[in-house]
Amino acid sequence: MTFDAVDVIRCKRDGGRLTDAQIGWVIDAYLRGVVAEEQMAALLMAIVLRGMEPAELARWTTAMIESGDRMDLSTVDRPTVDKHSTGGVGDKITLALAPLVAACGAAVPQLSGRGLGHSGGTLDKLESIPGWRAQLTYAEYLAQLADVGAVVCAAGPTLVPADRRLYALRDVTGTVESIPLIASSIMSKKIAEGAAALVLDVKVGSGAFMKNAGDARALAEAMVWLGAAAGVRTVALVTAMDTPLGRTAGNALEVAEAVEVLAGGGPPDVVELTVALAREMLGAAGLAGRDPADVLAGGGAMDTWRRMVRAQGGDPDAPLPAAREVHTVAAPATGLLSTVDAYAVGVAAWRLGAGRARKEDPVSATAGVVLLAKPGDRVTVGQPVLALHTDDPARLPRAEAALAGAIRVGGPASRLPLVLDRVGEG
Ligand code: URA
Repeated sequence: MTFDAVDVIRCKRDGGRLTDAQIGWVIDAYLRGVVAEEQMAALLMAIVLRGMEPAELARWTTAMIESGDRMDLSTVDRPTVDKHSTGGVGDKITLALAPLVAACGAAVPQLSGRGLGHSGGTLDKLESIPGWRAQLTYAEYLAQLADVGAVVCAAGPTLVPADRRLYALRDVTGTVESIPLIASSIMSKKIAEGAAALVLDVKVGSGAFMKNAGDARALAEAMVWLGAAAGVRTVALVTAMDTPLGRTAGNALEVAEAVEVLAGGGPPDVVELTVALAREMLGAAGLAGRDPADVLAGGGAMDTWRRMVRAQGGDPDAPLPAAREVHTVAAPATGLLSTVDAYAVGVAAWRLGAGRARKEDPVSATAGVVLLAKPGDRVTVGQPVLALHTDDPARLPRAEAALAGAIRVGGPASRLPLVLDRVGEG
């Protein structure tokens, strides 16, 4: 069945409900070049303004999945479970979580992305390990999953090609911030990836897409509902992103911190969230038994991490690259450090070279920000609170400008509890 794109746009513009046939047609026709970029942009804006009913969202997500291939993990003999974070600053959780959950008996298949803007990408972090490569063939991916139990690699071009096109268009048309569009974008990729269970980490706060807990809960509910409708056991935690996770934001800096966590140390917030997500993943995979907190504290996930890095060409013993220049930012007053703003730190790390403005830009492995103090710590005026790492000192002034007002001393501590909410069965 064919439609007139303008009728589909008008229907949504006027608050109508798109039919299954209209949705299936418009996504397919867009990919074939029959629906023009400006028409899809207008439809996306109408969706941002008018939203989608649950049945429309489910059909939209299915149509996106149908644009590409679904992975078949039926040959993997352990329960499969994946995790997805909606993105934040200093979010290196996957690095320790994937080997931890694999060490507890599950298989963790993770097709991951690169960072865009102020929030980092897991592949960029792993690429700071000498020799590590993100691209695997399907056969290598399956073999690593069976052998090591955890794989984090780049998604191939046939995984939801509709999302590649739609996301690029959303990025330049002010249509990213929409719960149905974010939910369908994330869940189409996760469902196509083929894991039987999924745990979502929905971030809320200045460094996240969702700035308030109500929106984060609504996004979590939409994604959990889409997962369940597709037969994937899905749970979401809503977690704080008002201040960076741990003490580092930047590629090699975050890998080093994750390795500390795997060795049984590391910052308490990173350990707490890693364990909370691991418990959810093992529960969703039907693998109650070993407590991941004990496995992590005993260093039991380190062996899996080392095998995971080696399997993708990386050398887990090679020293990580370090920045040539380190400049500090001092506390503006004496007292209790109440705020280190996540968004500002993310932008500073990005401007130091850790992130990219366009998909094709290179990133620096060494650039980033280290938090020498965290909210809740006592500081004295002039004490270094942040260390800015870069190979290119010309980048420092703009990074420092991003941090204006980001460090606050005194007043009520603005920290949110780390795990704010949970959505899902069990
Ligand atoms: N991450 C995605 O994959 N898609 C979105 O729309 C937002 C975040």
